[in-house]
Amino acid sequence: MKQETKCIQAGYTPKNGEPRMIPIVQSTTFKYDTSEDMGKLFDLEASGYFYTRLQNPTNDYVAAKIAALEGGSAAMLTSSGQAASFYSVFNLAGAGDHVIASSTIYGGSFNLFNVTMRRMGIDFTFVDPDCSDEELEAAFKPNTKAVFGETIANPALIVFDIERFAKAAHAHGVPLIIDNTFATPINCRPIEWGADIVTHSTTKYMDGHDATVGGAIVDAGKFDWMAHKDKFPGLTTPDDSYHGITYAEKFGKEGAFITKCTAQLMRDLGSIPSPMNCYLLNLGLESLAVRMDRHVSNAMKVAEFLEKNDKVAWINYPGLPGSKYYERAKKYMPNGSCGVIAFGVKGGRKAAEEFMKHLKVAMIATHVADAHTCILHPASSTHRQLTDEELLAGGVSPDLVRLSVGIENVDDIIEDLENALKAV
Ligand SMILES: *Cc1c(COP(=O)(O)O)cnc(C)c1O
Repeated sequence: MKQETKCIQAGYTPKNGEPRMIPIVQSTTFKYDTSEDMGKLFDLEASGYFYTRLQNPTNDYVAAKIAALEGGSAAMLTSSGQAASFYSVFNLAGAGDHVIASSTIYGGSFNLFNVTMRRMGIDFTFVDPDCSDEELEAAFKPNTKAVFGETIANPALIVFDIERFAKAAHAHGVPLIIDNTFATPINCRPIEWGADIVTHSTTKYMDGHDATVGGAIVDAGKFDWMAHKDKFPGLTTPDDSYHGITYAEKFGKEGAFITKCTAQLMRDLGSIPSPMNCYLLNLGLESLAVRMDRHVSNAMKVAEFLEKNDKVAWINYPGLPGSKYYERAKKYMPNGSCGVIAFGVKGGRKAAEEFMKHLKVAMIATHVADAHTCILHPASSTHRQLTDEELLAGGVSPDLVRLSVGIENVDDIIEDLENALKAV
C-alpha cells in the first residue's frame, strides 16, 4: 500500500460483519474464562489484553497504522509526545548512562533531558546538528546508549542529517532515535535513512485538529541488541520483574524494544492514552496525507510572500531555495517539509509583538502544526524558561516568530499577514 492508502486502511481490517470504523473499546479491563488464560498474558506467553494501563485494542489498531506509515516493525501510543520522548530514551538508558542529543530539539524535550532526566542520573551531551565529524565523534563515551535528533527542529526548522547521525551512532553500537513530529511519515521516513526508533508528538499534524494530546514510538526492528549485549542489559538479560524474560531473545529485533517499553515502562509509569483519544487520532491520520500536501503548498506560498516583504528581517523555511537547509530538505523530504515557517520582523522583539496584535486569521496559540493557522513568539512564551544562550544554542533567536500555516485558503492567510505587517 502507498502512504495515502495506509492512512485510511492500515492497522485495522474488519472481518465479516464487524464495524467499518475502529471500535472504541472504552473498557479498563478484559474478562477471561480461567485464571490460567489470564496468567499466560501476565507471563507474556500469549498476546491479549487484560488492563488498559498497559494495552488496549483501540490504541493498538492506531499504533499499527503509525508503524505501517513509518515502515516500522512495532509501535505503541503514549498519552503525550513528552511521554514518547521520555520512554524512547529511558527504555535504553538509566542512571550512569549517557545520551547524545541534538542541541536544536524541541524545548520540551531539551528540558526533559537537560533537567529531569539528568536528575535521574542520565548524562546528556548536546551537539550542534551541523557540528564537524570530529565534534560528533568526541561526544561519544563508553556509556553512550543512544543518539537523539529531530527531523525538522521545532521551532528552529533546522533539518537534521539523519543518515550522517545514523552512521555515527551505529559505528558506536548505539541506536538513533528520531522525533519525526514535524515532517510526519508523509514527508519523511527516517527508518529508510537509518533511524532505529521514531517518535512523534501525535498532538501536531497526526491529530491535526487541536483535539488530542498524544505520542507514538515506532521501532524499525533493525537494531541488533544481542550484538551489543553489554550495552543494553535491559533488553539482553533476564527481566526479574517479568519472570526472567530476556526481551531481545524472546521477541527478537522486531519486537524487543516495544514489548519492553510496554511491559516495563507503561506498566510502571502508566502514560497510556485513552481509547477515545486514540479514536480521534485515527480520524486525523485518515486525512494526514491530504492535509500535509495542503500544508506544504500553503506554506510555500506564504514563505515566498514573506521573503519579498520589506518588513521581514529574515525567513527560514526549508522549502525556499535560499534556505541553508534547502538541499538537505530536498534529500530527506522531496515532496516538501512541513507547514511551519520561522521568521523575524524588522525591529526585533517589540515589532514582532506589535505585528502579532494585528493578526485576525492567524491566531496566537502555543500550539503548532495543525489545520488552523497559528503563530507564536517562542522567546516570550514556550521558551521563556531558557536563557538567551540556551535559546541561541537551540537555534531560536529572541526575535523568532513561528508561523504554523494551516489548511485555510492561502489568500486569506497572506492578506492577514500583509495587513498586520503594514501596521508595524
Ligand atoms: C510538541 C512536541 C513534542 C511534545 O509533545 P506533546 O504532545 O506536547 O507532549 C515533542 N517533540 C516535538 C517536535 C514537538 O513539536
